[in-house]
Order: sequence, then structure tokens, then C-alpha cells
Amino acid sequence: MAALIFSVMLLVALGWFGRTLYRRVMILLKSQPDYRFDHIPQRIKAVLVYAFGQRKFIVPDPPPGSPISEWKAGWLHFFVFWGFMILAIQVLTMFGRAYSEHFYVPLFSPGLLGGPYFLLKDIMEVVVLVCIIALLTRWAITHPKRLYGFLPAEERLAKQSHWEAYVILCFIGGIMIGGKLYDGGRMIYAASHPDVQQEAAWQPFSSMVGHALAAWFGTEGAKFFSDLGWWLHNTIILVFLNLLPLSKHFHIITSLPNVFFLKTEPKGALSKQDLENATRFGSSFINHFTWKQVLDMYSCTECGRCSSHCPATQSGKLLAPRQLLLNLRDYLYEHEDAMLALPNAATGAATQSEASNVGENIVGERLILDEVLWACTTCRACEEACPVLIEYVDKIVDMRRHLVQEEARFPSELTRTFKAMETQSNPWGVDASQRDAWAQGLGIPTMAEKPDAEYLYYVGCAGAFDDRAKRTTQAVAKILKQAGVDFAILGKEELCNGETARRIGNEYLFQSMAQMNVEVLNGYGVKKIITNCPHCFNTLKNEYPQFGGNYEVYHATEFVQRLIAHGRIRFGPDGARTVTYHDSCYLGRYNDVYEAPRQILQSIPGLQLKEPVRSRRFGMCCGAGGGRMWMEEDPDKRVNLRRVEQLLETQPDAVAVACPFCMTMIDDGIKSKNLEERVQALDVMEIVAERMEHTQAG
Ligand code: SF4
Ligand code: SF4
Repeated sequence: MAALIFSVMLLVALGWFGRTLYRRVMILLKSQPDYRFDHIPQRIKAVLVYAFGQRKFIVPDPPPGSPISEWKAGWLHFFVFWGFMILAIQVLTMFGRAYSEHFYVPLFSPGLLGGPYFLLKDIMEVVVLVCIIALLTRWAITHPKRLYGFLPAEERLAKQSHWEAYVILCFIGGIMIGGKLYDGGRMIYAASHPDVQQEAAWQPFSSMVGHALAAWFGTEGAKFFSDLGWWLHNTIILVFLNLLPLSKHFHIITSLPNVFFLKTEPKGALSKQDLENATRFGSSFINHFTWKQVLDMYSCTECGRCSSHCPATQSGKLLAPRQLLLNLRDYLYEHEDAMLALPNAATGAATQSEASNVGENIVGERLILDEVLWACTTCRACEEACPVLIEYVDKIVDMRRHLVQEEARFPSELTRTFKAMETQSNPWGVDASQRDAWAQGLGIPTMAEKPDAEYLYYVGCAGAFDDRAKRTTQAVAKILKQAGVDFAILGKEELCNGETARRIGNEYLFQSMAQMNVEVLNGYGVKKIITNCPHCFNTLKNEYPQFGGNYEVYHATEFVQRLIAHGRIRFGPDGARTVTYHDSCYLGRYNDVYEAPRQILQSIPGLQLKEPVRSRRFGMCCGAGGGRMWMEEDPDKRVNLRRVEQLLETQPDAVAVACPFCMTMIDDGIKSKNLEERVQALDVMEIVAERMEHTQAG
């Protein structure tokens, strides 16, 4: 009878779960195409490292003890994840016992792998139970802000998320307790069976439960509790299975594929739009997102790590990345039927015309406010923090592309920026003929004068036109000259690389600038480029290959660090100074250049380097990226002030930067606090040039 009832329950549960899963998979097929089936070894490695290894949860970066460290919650999640993996075999065993009293999953029976597995399972059930109690206690008592929301808009999420989370955690606890009751009771009432004797020998905790049941309720009572445990365990599993797709715990199923389908192109390369054949620009309806972007929506664990690292959220702006993603996800679920009615994207993309768009335009008043999109600095802190590798920047830029290219709707101050880029090839709008003014009298050859130079020093607009950044440019040139590097500049022939336009969403302007630049660079046969601006560095290195520009690109800190290592730069006598280093997002998080600037600073005698709490992968943005440099900032919500406060906690004499935009923001922040007499903002290159004593060509 039990087998019959269980069979009916199993069929209903699996059938309903299968239906839900089928609909979700079909929505992926209806979404826009994105080829993510290449680089299989890299994808498998990512699954091993990030999914099975739970790297983002347990690697203590920031280190334990740091106020932003999440390592305790990370390890709890690690054990719950592995507990689930190990107990999956137990679930199959428990289901099979409906039909055979001594069913075992092949290979996991006594005499084979059963013994060690029983021991592992026995321990994991207890560990998971302890983790569940710890998580429940943590949530109920400490109320971590990242879980409970950062903005008023997240209050609903906090309530809903926590109601679900408590239920799911209680379910997981119930599964563990059910398993223990079942095994413990069985070890008493079926104690004479040789298989059960082996199970008991390998499962000390379940044996203890069995003895306790026998002592309190006798053999009959132990049988009753064993049966109760079996029903409890199996019923919860079947209900749990059907709750998963309706809650944030759908990530239990989707996070593995989401990690597998990670972006394998360079992190700093935005997608190239096909401007000639496109029927629309950017994303503005829910069916405009790619299937991978939809998989991201399915996979969010609602942990809030993204928002807790987002400079926009932290400075009180309306953007909170978790809320943005969940708004999209909820809207998608509300429009499931309409999505399912679309033709498959792979076969019917051409027929997915404007008339077949799903729902309303979501960008603007309806769902994702313009203000939310313009608040993003494209710093990637959210992506770096996300344990399931959800991608944000591409989605945000896709929606900006719609605003700029289809609606011509953007902050009014950007009109001047675009015009300046179009007419003077720099966002400052300074006369293009002044591009090489910084080099006057320095005797630096141009590519026209020295076309066989080994390196091109690409200065960039900031380095050429911004008065403060020009001092850094001159410092780089001085270092290269004194170290005997064979280099030249483009001089007046240098053009803006268009990075700002692309991040703002003006793909058309970016592509035309990129093409012109590549033409100039390839015309000179440039192979190796040095640049001091991380934005130029990222675009030349990671995005220009999309336009046939393939170069070896070095950031000045990488290049100079090598010159120091090879003895081509030496430093003068001690001059004691305490310096803290501010990581540029486009150098660090986008291109993993964390060590070179630090190694340079550490190699200078007398200079003491102090790390701020937020550094390296978790360094906070200065607020200038993603075109924010050119947009008005609410004085009460300035990202740079928050960042400067963090940097000043180290009590430095100077803040070292490796980016002209960071220089502007940090310098302004220090001045706003009237601390410019005490603390300087200096580029790493300026510090090197100032302390460089003797160099030798070679
Ligand atoms: S890229 Fe940076 S600013 Fe944009 S949502 Fe992510 S963390 Fe926030
Ligand atoms: S996007 Fe990632 S980091 Fe943000 S809440 Fe979801 S799972 Fe957590």
C-alpha cells in the first residue's frame, strides 16, 4: 500500500516538476541566441572551481577579519552544497526502499563503496543540520544587510526572500532529521539483517539515534519512527522539488549550467553590435535578452553580495544590481505564457519582429528606470562578488544602447560629450590640434618620424588634454626615455579610442572611432603598445580585436615593473612616505593587473604601502567609469567621497593611482575634504619618475 501511495505521489511530483522545467527551458529557446558552446575545457574547469569548489564562497579575499569578509557564510554554504551532493545518493536509496526493503544504489551497497559512503553521509547529515541551525540563527539574530536589502525598493524582496528562505531551510533540516530517524529506527527493528549490521557499523550518529529510539520507545516505537522518518524525508523532497522553480532556490538546478556557460571572451570586451543588419539596437523588451541573460535571471540566489559591493548602491543611488536582476526575472515570470508563444529564436529570430515583442517596453517608467541604468559605473564589482557568475555589465549596457540609439534619451550633459568626441576626438572638447602639446620640447619622436619604433606610447585623451593627467604622461615619457625604451607617439594623429561612447551605449560612435583608430595603428604596422590609461588599455587590448586590431598591449605599470625587475630603473635614497594604492576597476577587475603597481611601490626604498580594506578584487570604484565621469553627480551621493574616506583610513601621505580618471576623482575627493595639504594623489608613474635616480639603456 505504501508503495502504491508513494508511486502516485512520485508521478504527480515528477510530472509537475517536469512541466515547470520544460516551460523554463522553452523560454531559454525563445530568448535571443548567444553562442556559448566553445572553450569546453575552460567551461568544465569553471564548473569544478566555482560550482563544485565553491571558490567565490570560501576563498578568503577579502581576508577573514576584514569587515567585508563573508567567509563564515561562505563555508556554511559550502557544507550545505556538498551535503546535498552526497545526500543525493541517499535520496535515491530512500525512494528505492518504497519497492525493496534492502535497495541500494549500485556501487553504494555494503561490501562495495557502501561503507565509506555511509560514514560520509552520516557525518554530512549532522554537519548540514548544524549549518542550517547556524544559518537560521544568523538570519534571525544578526539580520545581515545584504540579505535584507539596501534600498526601500528591496523591502518587498527582503520579506518574500526571507519567508521562502526560512521554509526551505526548515525543509532541508526536515530531510536530515527524516533520514536520521529512518536509518536509526531501521538499525533497531532490522538489526539482524547483515546489510543493516554493516550500515550500523559505519554510521555512528544514526546508531546513536537508533539506540535512543529503542531506549525510549522500544523496538515497535523504533519501527514507527523509522517509517515516519521515511515519509517525512520523501514527502519533503517531492514538495521541495516543486518549490525550487518557484523560488530563489531554482539556483540549485540552474547555477551549475550558469557557471558552465560563463563568458569566455575577455571580461573587458562588450559585445559588438551588427550595425548594418540590426533591426533594433539594444534591449528594451524582455524577449530582447539572450538565453544566457535569462539563465542569469533564473540563477540568482538573492544573496545580495552584488549590491553590497556596488558603488552606486553604497552611495545611495537607485541602482541595486540584485533588485535590477530580480525585477527582470519577476517580469519574465509574469509573461511566461507570452514568451512561450514566441517562435524559437534559433529558427524564428527573423520573425521576432517588433509586433511580437512581449509585454511593454521595460526601460523607462515601466520597470527599469533610466536613472538606475545611468548610475552604473560598469565597475564589475557585482560580477566579481557573485558566487554564480551572473553578468551585469552587458545587460546594463544593452539597455543603455536602447536608450541612446533608439530613443536618444540620456543625461543632457552627455550631448556635449558626444559632440566633443565627434568633432575633436576627445570628450573634453579641447581643440584636437592640442593633442601633442604635452610633448613640446621633450624630444619624443612621432610614428611618422620613427615608423620602426618598437613600442607605440598611446597617450589617450585624458593624458593628452587634462592638465593634471598631462603631468603623468610626461612622467611616463621620462621613464621610457631614461630606460632606453625604443618608442614613439602618434602625436596629432592619435584619436580617441571611443571607450566612453561604448560604455554609455553609443555603439555607433564607438565603432566609427574604433575603425578609424585601427586604420591608423595598422597603417603604421604597430605591434606593441604601452598606455597608462586602463580604459585605453582595456579597449585596445580586449575590444579592438573585434575590428581587426591585434596588438600586444601593456599597461605602463606592467611595463615599468619589468624595467625595474631587469635593473633598467633604480631608485634614489630613502624618502620615508606612507602610500595607499587605489585599484582601478579597468586595470584590476577587468584585466587582473593587481600586483605590478604594488610591486613597483614596494621596490621604492622608504616607501611603505598600506592596503585599504577594500582592495584588489574588492576594491571600490572611484565613480568615473561607464561614462559617469561625464555625468552630473548628486553632491550627497558622490562615490569618490566614499572611496576617499576608505583610502584615508590607512592614514597615508599619498594615494597612488594608475588611471587618469581615478586621479581626477580621488584628487577631487581629497580636496573636498580640505586635506590636499596633508595627502597627495599621485600616479604610480609620477612616484617612479620622482624617485628614479639612475637608468641605463639596454
Ligand atoms: S558594474 Fe559596478 S556600478 Fe554597475 S551594477 Fe555592477 S557593481 Fe554596480
Ligand atoms: S546576482 Fe549574484 S551576487 Fe547578486 S544576489 Fe544574485 S546570486 Fe547574489
